[in-house]
Amino acid sequence: MDKKGILIVVSGFSGSGKGTLMKALLAKYPDNYALSISATTRTPREGEMDGREYFFKTKEEFEKMIAKEELIEYAKYVENYYGTPRKYVEEKLAEGKDVILEIEIQGALKVKEAFPDTLLLFVTPPTASELKARLVGRGTETMDVIESRMNRACEEALGMDRYDYLIVNDDLDQCVEEMHSIIRGEHHRSSRNSRFIEEIREDLERMKQ
Ligand code: ADP
Ligand code: 5GP
Repeated sequence: MDKKGILIVVSGFSGSGKGTLMKALLAKYPDNYALSISATTRTPREGEMDGREYFFKTKEEFEKMIAKEELIEYAKYVENYYGTPRKYVEEKLAEGKDVILEIEIQGALKVKEAFPDTLLLFVTPPTASELKARLVGRGTETMDVIESRMNRACEEALGMDRYDYLIVNDDLDQCVEEMHSIIRGEHHRSSRNSRFIEEIREDLERMKQ
């Protein structure tokens, strides 16, 4: 089979558990995946480290990155910029890793436009009330911000059907396995294995009597 890495976009409502899920997936399968670290202008949450969760930038620094075309895509989300640095993604794909971008829907659609064989995954909690419970339970935002994220979730839900697969994050371990198997399955898609097909066709021709 072809060894090419797949570019994977993971979106989902804020609080759906994407971050938790990505951490668990990478811990379980560290050799398969590379997680892109985004740049953002939002302030770090408690426990977040520059260069680990995000590259934290000022608005001026971020706008410079846009101007120099150092980002594959960027979007404004609840008053802050978020964007995907180009270099890391290109390097890891070339190494044959599946590269995961955890980004919101506007960015997801821009990536799909630029790279049509991107796999789009959407993470959702089982219910809307569970989403609110997780946002409140995380305790990292004020009620105002939680309300704006719930409203934003309403808008994002309108785009859920543009994704290739939905991933319901109910039981975390089960969700990790589901996501991993969807991606493993995706590697078998014939359109992702054109080199393999070409080689076996040539071999068969050579063996023809
Ligand atoms: P996101 O990255 O999508 O904003 P987080 O990963 O920060 O979401 O998760 C939001 C909250 O929900 C966190 O407090 C996290 O511990 C919790 N959480 C994540 N996944 C689950 C799950 N499967 N079941 C219950 N709680 C979860
Ligand atoms: P948070 O502030 O909760 O970390 O992230 C807010 C939203 O921004 C999430 O939906 C997250 O997926 C998205 N996001 C994070 N990084 C990027 C990025 O590089 N580009 C885009 N378009 N969205 C991002």
